[in-house]
Amino acid sequence: EELKKKVAKPVFRAEKFICLCITEPWAGSDVANIRTTAKREGDYFIVNGAKKWITNGVWSDYFTVLCRTGGEGAKGLSMLLLEKTMPGIEVRHMKCMGMWASGTSYITFEDVKVPTSNIIGKEGKGFLQTMYNFNHERWGLIAQANRFSRVCLEEALTYALKRRTFGKPLIKHQAIRMKLAEMARKIEASHSWMELVTYQLQTMSKKEQNLKLGGTIALLKAQSTKVFELCAREAAQIFGGASYVRGGVR
Ligand SMILES: Cc1cc2nc3c(=O)[nH]c(=O)nc-3n(C[C@H](O)[C@H](O)[C@H](O)COP(=O)(O)OP(=O)(O)OC[C@H]3O[C@@H](n4cnc5c(N)ncnc54)[C@H](O)[C@@H]3O)c2cc1C
Repeated sequence: EELKKKVAKPVFRAEKFICLCITEPWAGSDVANIRTTAKREGDYFIVNGAKKWITNGVWSDYFTVLCRTGGEGAKGLSMLLLEKTMPGIEVRHMKCMGMWASGTSYITFEDVKVPTSNIIGKEGKGFLQTMYNFNHERWGLIAQANRFSRVCLEEALTYALKRRTFGKPLIKHQAIRMKLAEMARKIEASHSWMELVTYQLQTMSKKEQNLKLGGTIALLKAQSTKVFELCAREAAQIFGGASYVRGGVR
């Protein structure tokens, strides 16, 4: 509760920034095998390790870090709140192909002294907390992928109405209309599924959501992102060479 008071308000007001540090250079999908350690010394944990691919890392004041406080496997993990002001934290901006604004970072922790009161939730429950959080985080990514897919469709349609080849607008060519119809069909199907899951998230208790919705939400994330992949490819085909420049097609 103390941590919530201190951190949640300024973060929700966008006065402070926070990031979620799970992935490491040696463990991504396999969350239970992360290696960053937090060893208890009196009233402190001493944190050592590295985290990779951390969205918002370079802009963050707070770091929610999954650490190994116990033995091997999922049961030895706990979640700690680290603060930018704590000595021993180094954040480096990674040079990525895209998503430049998200400040993807490589973060190292060297003997960072963290008060034991900075534990989030309960010691040894970090793995479960991480998994439960994925339900909401994935919902956000599902909505984002669906919206990006629509942008591809809208922009491709606008371009197809304007661009002329072989004496007529692109939209008059059946092969182009097929691409647009295929994109729309998949976007609408994913959107309907998203509405269903959103209703379930709003009407089930947190406990019931955690028990019943994990698998469905993971499948829907795969669905929405695959549809986005298809829409990006088909839109790029409709734009032709114009899809290959950073400046856009307008
Ligand atoms: C832009 C971006 C932002 C990110 N933001 C964050 C963040 O904010 N916080 C954070 O903690 N992490 C973040 N990540 C990391 C992301 O969660 C990991 O990249 C992801 O978990 C996969 O881990 P990995 O890259 O180590 O791949 P690996 O786990 O090494 O997997 C490599 C490939 O093998 C596949 N694979 C793995 N295991 C199996 C298996 N058993 N069977 C079949 N295939 C398998 C994977 O699907 C993947 O395709 C981000 C990543 C990116 C690219």
